[in-house]
Amino acid sequence: MTKLAATGRRQGSGDVSNETRWRRTLAWLRAQFPPRYPTTVRRKSITDYANTTFDNCRFRIVIDRDAAPAEALDALLHEWAHCLTWHGNDVDNHGDEWALAYGRIYRAHDAWAYGFEAKATNGGDK
Ligand SMILES: [Zn+2]
Repeated sequence: MTKLAATGRRQGSGDVSNETRWRRTLAWLRAQFPPRYPTTVRRKSITDYANTTFDNCRFRIVIDRDAAPAEALDALLHEWAHCLTWHGNDVDNHGDEWALAYGRIYRAHDAWAYGFEAKATNGGDK
């Protein structure tokens, strides 16, 4: 993916640690947007920002360990959309189907707020 500028999106409850946000987001993605193949996510020092590969019938997402927390989360949503729209072509394909999947994930994640806000509506849950 290409490097994104820092975004001004809200971060949910202010006292929640970045590590908690990261873990909850990953569990939320697995529950709400399950890929067709097992998917592992790692944080490592890498030269690109994030990448996804497919081999041995599993997706492997790697996110740069040095990315700022908000950037790492955006990268995770971006890469997750690749896992949902992969059809045996280049994994790093940013066509219409990928863009729609990324938009759906991004908007749902923004509304979800890490599960900490009152569930007055069912907007964040399916
Ligand atoms: Zn990409």
